[in-house]
Amino acid sequence: MATPYSHLFASLDLGFTTLKNRALMGSMHTGLEDSKSDFEKLAVYFAERAAGGVGLMVTGGIAPNRAGWLAPFAGKLSKSSEVARHQLVTDAVHDNDGKICMQILHSGRYGYHPMCVAPSPVRSPISPFKPRELSASGVDKQIDAFARCAKLAQDAGYDGVEVMGSEGYLINQFIVERTNQRTDQWGGSFENRCRFPLEIVQRVREAVGPDFIVIYRLSMLDLVDGGNTWEEVEMLARKIAAAGATLINTGIGWHEARIPTIGTMVPRAGFSWVTKRLMGKVDVPLITTNRINTPEVADKVIADGHADMVSMARPFLADSHFMAKAAEDRGDRINTCIACNQACLDHTFSKKRASCLVNPRACYETELNYEPTDTRKRVAVVGAGPGGMATAHVAAMRGHDVVLFDRAQELGGQFNMAKRVPGKEEFYETLRYFTNVLADEGVDIRLGTNVDVAMLEEGGFDEVVVSTGVTPRIPGIEGIEHDKVLSYIDVLRHSAKVGKRVAIIGAGGIGFDIAEFLAHEDPDDAASTEEFLREWGVDKTYREAGGLHPEGSQHHSARDLYLLQRKDAKLGKGLGKTTGWIHRLAMSGRKVRMIGGVQYKKIDDAGLHISVGETDRLLEVDNVIICAGQESLRSLADDLIDHRGNDEHVHVIGGAERAAELDAKYAIREGSLLAAKL
Ligand code: NAP
Ligand code: SF4
Repeated sequence: MATPYSHLFASLDLGFTTLKNRALMGSMHTGLEDSKSDFEKLAVYFAERAAGGVGLMVTGGIAPNRAGWLAPFAGKLSKSSEVARHQLVTDAVHDNDGKICMQILHSGRYGYHPMCVAPSPVRSPISPFKPRELSASGVDKQIDAFARCAKLAQDAGYDGVEVMGSEGYLINQFIVERTNQRTDQWGGSFENRCRFPLEIVQRVREAVGPDFIVIYRLSMLDLVDGGNTWEEVEMLARKIAAAGATLINTGIGWHEARIPTIGTMVPRAGFSWVTKRLMGKVDVPLITTNRINTPEVADKVIADGHADMVSMARPFLADSHFMAKAAEDRGDRINTCIACNQACLDHTFSKKRASCLVNPRACYETELNYEPTDTRKRVAVVGAGPGGMATAHVAAMRGHDVVLFDRAQELGGQFNMAKRVPGKEEFYETLRYFTNVLADEGVDIRLGTNVDVAMLEEGGFDEVVVSTGVTPRIPGIEGIEHDKVLSYIDVLRHSAKVGKRVAIIGAGGIGFDIAEFLAHEDPDDAASTEEFLREWGVDKTYREAGGLHPEGSQHHSARDLYLLQRKDAKLGKGLGKTTGWIHRLAMSGRKVRMIGGVQYKKIDDAGLHISVGETDRLLEVDNVIICAGQESLRSLADDLIDHRGNDEHVHVIGGAERAAELDAKYAIREGSLLAAKL
């Protein structure tokens, strides 16, 4: 059989060492780096991914000193006493035939603490802390800290380090004038501003010798005003390679940039063109990144000459065995990252341990395991939404005899609606994954089946899991039965015809999704990279420094939309921590009128009558779409409990139990935890 994905699986000779394939597990903060007592968990997390066949991995960012901390007491490596904990990681990785680099990240003005430092005392728009300006000797101390940290990483057994020079952290802050207003040898001309990264790479190389990987993460597209020009990016890349870097990785966008760079609305490999611009211009291999999540895309990026290697971070959270499955040509069994950020980056930014919506074992490898059962049971799972599918899969994987029922004719529950929302097409992958693995595990799937108590009693089940989900809440507004009123289910599932002027009642996740759906002329057509870049104002031709389009973003809407809520608060406040701003910005760009503090009066032929404060208003709309939250669909659960009494073998999970907390992350995790114990 021909090797699948031959470009992705080609080895890469770095001279003193060879990488077995072209996949890099990119740096991703998990939260486990920050506490000495969590390093055993971190070691198992990386060991599992090494065993899964990835060519090279990079740890989450580790600060070279306290000033470089991302937050107080974040991971740091500046003393020999801190080496031993890292050895747990490197030993575990090497025992599993893997290679791992440690990322050295100095946060500079992004440090969320009062000790943060920067080239100039310019506060970042995303931090409350104004940084202290480094003195000339202070600059020298930071460079020394990088070199010392790299040496300690080598002592700890790492195969290399990655110097974090992008995303707007300290090194980036030195390179551009918007954050570097110094007049000494570290500021002013481009040559002076680049002195800092070049000294770092040189001194790191001197500290670790020739046979140690030094990756430099280069900001190739700043996406902020006053960022680097393309000529500067190219010049810096050449100098970094000459200073001793082994590989150059791609950084896209500063954290303060207002353009999505990894969210699910970014088309797959939507930024690999940036790395391609640099191909052939430097003597070291280049790594590209951002929204590469399948072996097909990774292989094509390399085949098309966009890069020598691809970095994927979140996809390895979602599936530790991504590469092993790809190698066996079982790519359709990969649990694909859907780029939702809900359990990884949203957790990190809420100071919680990262995990993964589609794989709750991520970062919990020592705590959540699916061991084979000693007692094979007959298990009924009623409701094949995300929670039900996860429960059935884990239970069957452990050896139980599982029947999965659903009233609908297809697996997936609410995911079948989410997948239709523009920018959420990745949900198709989760449905593909579950369809395949449920079949592999021999789950007996009975679709189009209305389950009742008698059926469950006759089925001889030892355990019954009710995951029947939710039903939309219908608010008691006068005229709610009017023909112009539709529910989000009518729109997303039944493709109801919707007019040009629309009011959306409810501005939660689904209200925003419906607004996005209705703003598109053709919502079922996924945006191409060109469309995405035009919409968000990214200029591929790099006419202006930073890569922003001179005319800015260009969002359009196919309809006149109102998005409404009763709370007198900012709309979209409850959306994801790292993605809410994107949805709000997109809606403002599309001129969606977002109104809070609304009282709904009535719906009639004229439209939706509301009052806001003391003012009555008529929204002359063709349709009113109800997205007013959910109520539990638990009649089966109640009937079963009435029939059997307080029975420990009946389990109600997900939205059926708590509609207010309905969320796929929660449902998949709850189902997996339950099935791990059945
Ligand atoms: P939701 O987030 O709870 O929002 C419900 C909306 O309806 C709120 O704006 C609420 O605002 C309004 N509302 C509640 N009761 C109402 C009533 N009686 N009359 C009129 N308005 C009412 O629910 P959802 O949008 O249905 O989303 C459900 C779940 O799906 C969420 O928990 C979310 O996690 C998940 N989801 C997430 C995303 C995402 O992007 N991460 C996307 C879609 C769905 P007021 O009470 O202020 O009017
Ligand atoms: Fe990907 Fe979402 Fe999992 Fe993060 S939580 S790794 S974005 S699927």
